[in-house]
Amino acid sequence: MADSMRTALRVPDGPVNLAGYDPAARPLAPVNKSGKAKKLRTDAEHLAGLQERLWAESTAGGNRRVLLLLQGMDTAGKGGVTEHVVGTFGPIGVQYTAFKKPTKQELAHDFLWRIGNRVPPPGVIGVFDRSQYEDVLVVRVHELVPESEWSTRYGRINAFEAELAGSGTTIVKCFLHISYETQRERLLARLADPDKHWKFNEADIDERAFWTDYVAAYEAVLEECNTTVAPWYVVPSDDKAYRNWAIGALLRETLEELDPRYPQPDLDLDRLRERLEPPH
Ligand code: AMP
Ligand code: MG
Repeated sequence: MADSMRTALRVPDGPVNLAGYDPAARPLAPVNKSGKAKKLRTDAEHLAGLQERLWAESTAGGNRRVLLLLQGMDTAGKGGVTEHVVGTFGPIGVQYTAFKKPTKQELAHDFLWRIGNRVPPPGVIGVFDRSQYEDVLVVRVHELVPESEWSTRYGRINAFEAELAGSGTTIVKCFLHISYETQRERLLARLADPDKHWKFNEADIDERAFWTDYVAAYEAVLEECNTTVAPWYVVPSDDKAYRNWAIGALLRETLEELDPRYPQPDLDLDRLRERLEPPH
């Protein structure tokens, strides 16, 4: 049980064909006796307790952190997962970063520069809403740099992640997998709801025309950058409740394995209590 979601969603080594991954699947989701799906619940208190221990450990010199990296097509739910995760840990335990189209300043640096600047500090859960992978996804699909350059980036990303892992960061990389039809439904739902019009971005329809190219670019990422220290998980994301629950489980397993402990400072309790006497 301890490692079950990480095992179930882990991408096997070798070439990846996303057509073989059902975006509506619900691996490990509990069902009741009659086979009906049970309501999925993340044990937020347990997760928050684990994060607090990670933080406590860092105040005594511990160096460990967790980085949840989210990638997926538009409307796959990177924002929804973020809300779920931040809601679970609270704003103090999380450092959230959304990576947008690079600014002039960012473009003047190497593509990993802005990523390195946002690595979570010890004790914190970092959330990347998009990431270094945009530089081999949108950049590859639209040839924003020549192939001779983007093709070198898989190896550079692997080296970067190995270094992060080596210095105390546990990286959890999630590809939120939705179907072409689900994306259409979600975009239509935004159009149908005036309160969601602000979220509507016509550029998402432009990008949708490149779906097949994005699939190929994702398949390359899932093959080239699926390493032992920073493996990829494909999270079926047509069902939002399942998606959030599954990522909660990936984080729970990760934190349970890290098993952070409260520091045990050597307090002279009698002396400290005495100092608090007498009452006013
Ligand atoms: P959103 O996440 O919906 O706010 O959109 C952010 C946009 O920034 C998306 O269209 C991404 O493809 C784009 N973006 C993120 N990183 C990069 C990058 N390194 N190069 C080009 N575009 C990027
Ligand atoms: Mg968007």
